Amino acid sequence: MNPDKCLAYRKAFPKDKKSICNKKYSQKSSAKQKRLEAERKRKEKPEVRDRIRYLANLPQNKLKRAEKQLERRRSDPEKSREIQRRYREKNPERVRMWKMRRRALENNAEGSFTPQELREKLAEYSGKCHWCGSLTDKPELDHLIPLSKGGSNWISNIVPSCVSCNRRKSNIMPEEFLARQFA
Ligand SMILES: [Zn+2]
Repeated sequence: MNPDKCLAYRKAFPKDKKSICNKKYSQKSSAKQKRLEAERKRKEKPEVRDRIRYLANLPQNKLKRAEKQLERRRSDPEKSREIQRRYREKNPERVRMWKMRRRALENNAEGSFTPQELREKLAEYSGKCHWCGSLTDKPELDHLIPLSKGGSNWISNIVPSCVSCNRRKSNIMPEEFLARQFA
């Protein structure tokens, strides 16, 4: 099942929310099985899985907008990309929020934050790196407790970091990282 089909189905059967997205396929031929296997793998990708879940739960009014976007992406991909580009330029916090959310999903970590929460967090640090305190024009975002070690994607676990600290910290626990700085 791909998001396009899910959306088309939701349009045709507005009352039936999830059945198409959870549809069990009959297994007839090995070629078909292979295709299904590939499809299943694709569905497991966090971005696709998330998109399908998102569409299945979308209220009708927002569903209309999603349809329109999809239609535009098909009929005028150039313009669609341009609109997306402009949106990203105007909403940098939202784009960063998506990226962090994506990484959290890949790590099966819980948590999300709003662009406003992120703006507040960044303002709190006024451009300083959480680890070394140096000023940086474009702080990166770092999970205090790494996602791979059970950290969440809630705003409380997000800190701005300079590029250098972010690279060095990678998936080290905070105490350990700080201890290494003074070793
Ligand atoms: Zn730093």
